Amino acid sequence: MPFTRLGLRPELLDAIKALGYEVPTPIQEKSLPESMAGKDVIGSAQTGSGKTLAFTLPLLQRLLDDRDKDPHKGGPRVRALVLVPTRELATQVEKAVGELAKFSPVKCALIIGGASFTTQRDALRKGAEVVCATPGRLLDLLRSGDLHLRDVKVTVLDEADRMLDMGFMPDVRRIMKLLPASRQTLMFSATIPPEVERVVNEFMREPVRVEVDRPRSTATSVTQALFPVTEGQKGELLAAIVKSDGVDSVIVFTRTKARADYVAHCLDRRDIKCGVLHSDLSQKERDRAMEDFREGRCTILVATDLAARGIDVPEVSHVVNYDVPEHAEDYVHRIGRTGRAFAQGDAVTLVSFEEERLIPSIEAFTGQKIARKALDGFAYRVPPRLHSYEARPSSKFRIRRVIPRGGPRFRR
Ligand code: AMP
Repeated sequence: MPFTRLGLRPELLDAIKALGYEVPTPIQEKSLPESMAGKDVIGSAQTGSGKTLAFTLPLLQRLLDDRDKDPHKGGPRVRALVLVPTRELATQVEKAVGELAKFSPVKCALIIGGASFTTQRDALRKGAEVVCATPGRLLDLLRSGDLHLRDVKVTVLDEADRMLDMGFMPDVRRIMKLLPASRQTLMFSATIPPEVERVVNEFMREPVRVEVDRPRSTATSVTQALFPVTEGQKGELLAAIVKSDGVDSVIVFTRTKARADYVAHCLDRRDIKCGVLHSDLSQKERDRAMEDFREGRCTILVATDLAARGIDVPEVSHVVNYDVPEHAEDYVHRIGRTGRAFAQGDAVTLVSFEEERLIPSIEAFTGQKIARKALDGFAYRVPPRLHSYEARPSSKFRIRRVIPRGGPRFRR
């Protein structure tokens, strides 16, 4: 179904055309008829499926229709609220709203921590009708009285499961309680854990559930591989991978901030330029790293899971998991950075012996076996094991209990 059949306003169709989108993605095709009809919608779709457009279009359509009916032509009132878990995602969504509102007078304010409070307050005073926010700063502005939500007609909860993971649910609840009961609510979440389901029951009205693909699945265009390697040679292997042919832009994921800094240091030592993205850096540093990466000034970005969700960096050719993620869900989100919008992409996971235990749960979660590979020409100090441990359940490969009962003992 082309966009022209969805009943969208000409300002929005023009913006879609300017962006070069021809047909809706599956999540857009399934959710737009429902959301445009004013219904509450829960969309489960994997990252990169086009969900930002799926909620931005009905939101703008509603605001523009209301503007036509309203003799005051809007006025400085917030009429739509998009809540997202991270500053980077908020920045990205605000940009998407701006692009789609290009041919209409609707303005969007970005309300995030780590940026100037005054600038954000001014944006609201100047008449932003859409607010794209992370929960903390939004609550600050609500408390200071610079923002109120009584005129909100549409609310979007993006990456609701991530909000839960990051401990934002109490804040989300607080905010939802301040919204008028008559509003429309759209929620997007890769998975719907019980706590998110409770929020749905509490704050949404007879929501229509829209699902594309199984939420646990990984994009079919992504080729995945496990690269078994000792912990000590991971840095060297990473350097060899990023220098390989066809590796044009890479996001390297690590489990912790300290590991991200360490990996950046490892690459730096080998004269490989990279950017770093994690939450201990200032907002300015995070913005610069993202911008350098997006603009292609830097082709490698080392990041923690903070960046794993929602960040839209087109044409990432590779994702390298320097550490195997502890949670299978994070694996899906991390590798969702490549293979976006149907481009081909590769996802490589470096697996040390200690991390082997995490692989079966990832394979069970995604419902597929991941091929084991070795990098051609790499000088492995220990030959990599190219068959899965599960397939050869010999006691030799079982991880023994090394910590004595009662916890480790230390000698004084
Ligand atoms: P999202 O899941 O919202 O982060 O979107 C992922 C990518 O898909 C972004 O780069 C969008 O610009 C792109 N995109 C969204 N909708 C479409 C569409 N209908 N056709 C082609 N690309 C799209």
